[in-house]
Amino acid sequence: MNILLIGSGGREHALAWKLAQSRLLAGDGDQFYAAPGNPGIAEHAECVALDAGDHAAVLEFCSAKAIGLVAVGPEAPLVNGLGDALRNAGIPVFGPNQGPAQLEGSKGFTKDLCERAGIPTAGYVRTTSLDEAITALDRFSPPYVLKADGLAAGKGVVLPETREEAEAALEDMFGGRFGAAGAEVVIEEFMVGEEASFFALTDGTAILPLGSAQDHKRVGEGDTGPNTGGMGAYSPAPVLTAALQQDVMDRIITPTVDALRAEGTPYSGVLFAGLMLTDKGPKLIEYNARFGDPECQVLMMRLEEDLGELMLACAEGKLSEYSAANLSSETALTVVMAANGYPGTPEKGGAIQLGSAETSSAKVFHAGTKIEGEQLRANGGRVLNVTAMGANVTQAQTAAYAAVDAITFPTGFCRRDIGWREVERESP
Ligand code: ATP
Repeated sequence: MNILLIGSGGREHALAWKLAQSRLLAGDGDQFYAAPGNPGIAEHAECVALDAGDHAAVLEFCSAKAIGLVAVGPEAPLVNGLGDALRNAGIPVFGPNQGPAQLEGSKGFTKDLCERAGIPTAGYVRTTSLDEAITALDRFSPPYVLKADGLAAGKGVVLPETREEAEAALEDMFGGRFGAAGAEVVIEEFMVGEEASFFALTDGTAILPLGSAQDHKRVGEGDTGPNTGGMGAYSPAPVLTAALQQDVMDRIITPTVDALRAEGTPYSGVLFAGLMLTDKGPKLIEYNARFGDPECQVLMMRLEEDLGELMLACAEGKLSEYSAANLSSETALTVVMAANGYPGTPEKGGAIQLGSAETSSAKVFHAGTKIEGEQLRANGGRVLNVTAMGANVTQAQTAAYAAVDAITFPTGFCRRDIGWREVERESP
């Protein structure tokens, strides 16, 4: 079969690496394309210049190349309706339609769905004007949680400590700081607890749990400094015990999938739940309509299934043929190497030598790289995802940093403490 992967980051390199091992691509003449891809993805797929926002061009490409499966990595094409365009043309696609992708595209949509389906989450109010939002603040106490409704590249959430800061932040948000994404602001109750991520595959009816992860959003060690797209992650997250995962399946994931199907907008693809583990049990913080980046990298390292076949089963409504999606019981941990300056203005063009970083248990996924002649160079904020396996978080961390230390990247940096919470819990 011919497969097209959409995306260009570390998440997509991990998907490409795993898809390249699929039986779906094992036949003579099977072609694997990525749009637009990156130098790491190019080791597995033919990278093509195709704009995922141009649905007609994507359809034309799929028809010309007889594509049998499109795997969509990032959220923007899904929220923009690429899934619908492909499904309407009869092309199997991994990723939801625009309607159910609103789980990620609109925080208000998700909160309303949680209310209708009785899913545990923070109390909230949706507001569409500054006056309404300021009045609504009376119903909450600090710290406040203010969220631009739409996609804001992970930057649309503000957590002001005081009423004054909250009002100033609301003025900013309704003043256009997040563009159209901030035309509505959701105000939420502040939840206290440890955060964890949970992933499930679904074809709209059948659901397969795909395991847990924890990431590190802050740029600095000890989880300090500004937020980033994610500086590292590990899977599984032992804090999300088997009992808690069952609870998440029963009270959060299954009711969500059931409600969307019942409402005529079935969700197909991967459902990524951001959770707060509160003293009253897991509560939903947010949904994403795609794999996390860098959580995908650690999940793909552990996945012991044929990713292509799993994605096709989601796309074709055949996920009930699986009883489980098996994952290694080992831990995978990924360290993000970023360009100096990130998350501000990253220094581009720095030379990179990967050396002997890759071993049988360590893999380097490319996030923001380019090739100039023979030289690999930094070409973005997050540049490499150095990922390794180990018997527990401590051992995976040791292996990942051994791989990091084998890489020469003078204009880059990484956090040296990815997994610290779990390493502390694991130490005698
Ligand atoms: P992401 O970067 O994960 O895409 P996002 O902008 O889509 O983030 P959320 O995940 O909803 O937004 O929130 C970002 C962060 O803000 C959360 O990871 C969490 O730390 C914090 N947060 C969000 N909602 C709450 C809440 N109700 N109570 C406490 N903290 C919260």
